[in-house]
Amino acid sequence: IKKIAVFTSGGDAPGMNACIRAVVRTGIYYGCEVIGIKQGYQGMIDKNFFPMNRHSVSNIMQLGGTILKTARCLEFKTEEGQQKAYDNLKEAGIDALVAIGGDGTFTGAERLSRNFNIPVMCVPGTIDNDLYGTDFTLGFDTATNTVIDAIDKIRDTAESHDRLFFIEVMGRDAGCIALRAGIAGGAEAIMLPEKETAIDDLINTLEAGAKNDKSSSIVIIAEGDKNGGAYNVAQKVKEKIDYFDTKVTILGHLQRGGSPSSFDRILGSRMGFAAVKAILRGETRQMVGLRGNNISFTDLEQSISGHEFKLEEDLMEMSTILA
Ligand code: ADP
Repeated sequence: IKKIAVFTSGGDAPGMNACIRAVVRTGIYYGCEVIGIKQGYQGMIDKNFFPMNRHSVSNIMQLGGTILKTARCLEFKTEEGQQKAYDNLKEAGIDALVAIGGDGTFTGAERLSRNFNIPVMCVPGTIDNDLYGTDFTLGFDTATNTVIDAIDKIRDTAESHDRLFFIEVMGRDAGCIALRAGIAGGAEAIMLPEKETAIDDLINTLEAGAKNDKSSSIVIIAEGDKNGGAYNVAQKVKEKIDYFDTKVTILGHLQRGGSPSSFDRILGSRMGFAAVKAILRGETRQMVGLRGNNISFTDLEQSISGHEFKLEEDLMEMSTILA
């Protein structure tokens, strides 16, 4: 392996830049050329390649987003698109790929390596923390901290006005951000896709709080919750009880941005470092993960669909008891 290319694809996540930096510097350390591909699979199709050196990644560790940009590329989902991408990689002399992204990105990388026999290593970059084979994905810690910061601020105003706030957070079909931010932010209730909450149960919780002289309440709702999002939950609660002064906040894309936490900077660095070392050992078609405090590897097929992602039951149980 002489020339390794790195790209980010799918949703951006804080910590991706730390990973890019690690891939570039590790590759160069071991005598490889490193190529950056801009805008993910779209960049492969458009030959958006550029050589990277140690200085290309100076001063990027602290930046959110991804300096390589990211894109969603429909053409790459077709066989013709994949062929074109591979022909361009070959023409540029690229021997191996490090892909940073979510399960869509992994699926693309899996196709490319299976059909054209090019080595790939994948790094889980998504704030949702919804990938099988790793305890944490890049960006999840930062996003959770961003949500906690928002909850704290909303708590100040909720408390001053004796209000009930419904806060909707990201996570797609997973409730990881909602659960952890809800616990750390002391939310009165957390509504998760993994554990359906009936509106009547939520009302019971809120009323019990009111009886205990709680003056403000915060309910965290994962965007994938089956009740249809924060506005719908607020509406359904208001139809049944009208004595709460309620407000809804949808945190939205601010959760994707910001300077990565130390955890995500270190995780990105470790994963990028491990990905390059694995490629140089001759490994391919793996996702780099973190299990416990150790770097782990999971077969790409398995990380994509082999197993269902599961939320921690113990945290779910604890959150209802501590709320
Ligand atoms: P994420 O990686 O965050 O899950 P997407 O699902 O949007 O984000 O996937 C990112 C990109 O990966 C897509 O725009 C597409 O180019 C590629 N991709 C996704 N699914 C497939 C697939 N089934 N086959 C080939 N490429 C895919």
